[in-house]
Amino acid sequence: MHLLNADLHSHSTVSDGTLDPEALAEQAARQGVELWALTDHDELDGLPRAAAAAQRLGMAWLAGVEVSVTFAGETVHVLGLGIDPTNEALQRGLAQVRGGRERRAREMAEGLARVGIRGAFEGAQGYVSNPELISRTHFARWLVDTGHCRDNADVFRRYLTSGRPGHVPHRWAGLGEAVGWIRGAGGVACIAHPARYPFNATVEYALFSEFVAHGGQAVEVLTSAHTTADAAKYADLAIEFGLAASRGSDFHAPGESRVELGALPTLSGRLEPVWQRLADRIQPAVPPPAAIGG
Ligand code: AMP
Ligand code: MN
Ligand code: MN
Ligand code: MN
Repeated sequence: MHLLNADLHSHSTVSDGTLDPEALAEQAARQGVELWALTDHDELDGLPRAAAAAQRLGMAWLAGVEVSVTFAGETVHVLGLGIDPTNEALQRGLAQVRGGRERRAREMAEGLARVGIRGAFEGAQGYVSNPELISRTHFARWLVDTGHCRDNADVFRRYLTSGRPGHVPHRWAGLGEAVGWIRGAGGVACIAHPARYPFNATVEYALFSEFVAHGGQAVEVLTSAHTTADAAKYADLAIEFGLAASRGSDFHAPGESRVELGALPTLSGRLEPVWQRLADRIQPAVPPPAAIGG
């Protein structure tokens, strides 16, 4: 179970990835992924295409989503794994979360204009494939391609994080709301890339405690944003809080993402892999034989 090559975190053109769901599925299969989840930001529209592609390619699959949450004034991402994409409360919740993105993007562009970077809204829009999902990633690609920044890391450090000119504080979903939508849709809620948040130990402890109190069940231990030390730290926290552990590359684009699909270490044997809690939600690699008779 621990040796399964599971990649439960990736993005398509339905949010801020550059590959469409079919191309992403093909890339995952080429990389040897055995259990794959598409987890677009605040969007479910890629899931039917991803499910069909995974089945064609003989790869086991889980429906997923990455929900944007505001916690302690910062953005936190909560993965919903094994959700039912037809669940109406989840669909309504995500539509509400997507709602403020365009206005936020216009304010981000105003902030950038104040430091002399003009035309960022139109520029970023040129990179958007889903009109409801303009994200900081699209601004980052434009800022790099126009030579304002060296790379993505440079963009976020100088312009798009807390206190920087292109950063706009924004109210996403509440933590309890997001976990509630995911559980209501039959899924498991999982804290994404915990090492990325700018929290001190006290606020981080509050995040984990409240997450568990709301019914959250997993934490991403292995992901591209984590060092070996981060993985060890969150493995300990998983055990302390009784959480299952997840593994996902957070792949966005060839050449841009630090880690290829499926190219992560193996989960430590002392952790419970999250996919053990999702056995009945997994679309198997090989479809069951059709019922015999009529
Ligand atoms: P948004 O949902 O618009 O706030 O954009 C968040 C997205 O920006 C994340 O999903 C990542 O794709 C990207 N991102 C955030 N922080 C960083 C960072 N430090 N370096 C590279 N990409 C980042
Ligand atoms: Mn992203
Ligand atoms: Mn994320
Ligand atoms: Mn992600």
